[in-house]
Amino acid sequence: QIPEIGTPARTQAILNRYRLSAKKSLGQNFLTDLNVLNKIVQAADVTENDNVIEIGPGIGSLTEQLAKRARRVVAFEIDENLLPVLEDTLSPYDNVTIVNEDILQANLPQVIKQTFEPGHPLKLVANLPYYITTPILMNILGSQVDFEVIVVMMQKEVADRLTAKPGIKAYGSLSVAVQFVANTEIAFDVPHTAFIPQPKVDSAIVKLTHREPYPVMPYDAHTMMGFVKGCFAHRRKSLWNNLQGIFGKQPEVKERIAQVLDELGISAQIRPEKLTVENFIELTNAFHNNGL
Ligand code: SAM
Repeated sequence: QIPEIGTPARTQAILNRYRLSAKKSLGQNFLTDLNVLNKIVQAADVTENDNVIEIGPGIGSLTEQLAKRARRVVAFEIDENLLPVLEDTLSPYDNVTIVNEDILQANLPQVIKQTFEPGHPLKLVANLPYYITTPILMNILGSQVDFEVIVVMMQKEVADRLTAKPGIKAYGSLSVAVQFVANTEIAFDVPHTAFIPQPKVDSAIVKLTHREPYPVMPYDAHTMMGFVKGCFAHRRKSLWNNLQGIFGKQPEVKERIAQVLDELGISAQIRPEKLTVENFIELTNAFHNNGL
């Protein structure tokens, strides 16, 4: 019997057989730890009722574990050199479709409509290419695709930012952008030794699930995110300083800023990293209503 793809011996044999060397520029680090692979699939609770999207199947180690448990798997791989490899390594599974496209360019809703039977939970499970973790997540969260759960591996430092709560150093505009639309948690950490080749950094699995809309929503989400970025422009300075950076230093502007903060009961001297997502929503709306 052939060993599974996600083992050091089989991965090395596949790389040798196809004379492949992992492309750093595409973030190619292949998982070679079956325990980690199983835990990823468990974190997403993949069952035979689920349709699964994967990003970056590589040589197929995670795809194989997904194919064994899911109803159907669609995996987007940008590197066309990996297509013949995947055709070979995944030949035992008849429920996998590989799409040779850049995930940032792909029309996800269309592919989903064309390949999956409707009426089944849709899940996203991936060991992401780390160089584009943030754009991928922002694209996915901004798309109209309704994933029941998203379970993705990324570098630990980014995972910390996605899950950081106010007051923590890792808390910033990325934390707010993601936590505005999803609940986030770190499922578990993965050491760099679980890959061939080994990346320089350690990794973590992040689980994102639906969150209820906030009781008050921003009048415009895009404006809010611009505002949040402005608030974090100088993390070590006070909110007051950052707000002047955004709106200006004219006396009448300062007066309005002070008025809004007073109305909301938010101290001008607070550091931006202390503000909750709710605070950012309230501030966005209040400044808008005050003509700023
Ligand atoms: N899933 C495999 C595993 O766990 O062993 C490989 C994961 S590797 C970290 C990331 C994969 O994403 C690589 O196969 C790489 O070629 C692919 N990739 C990189 N950029 C991509 C993009 N823009 N769209 C789709 N796939 C991409």
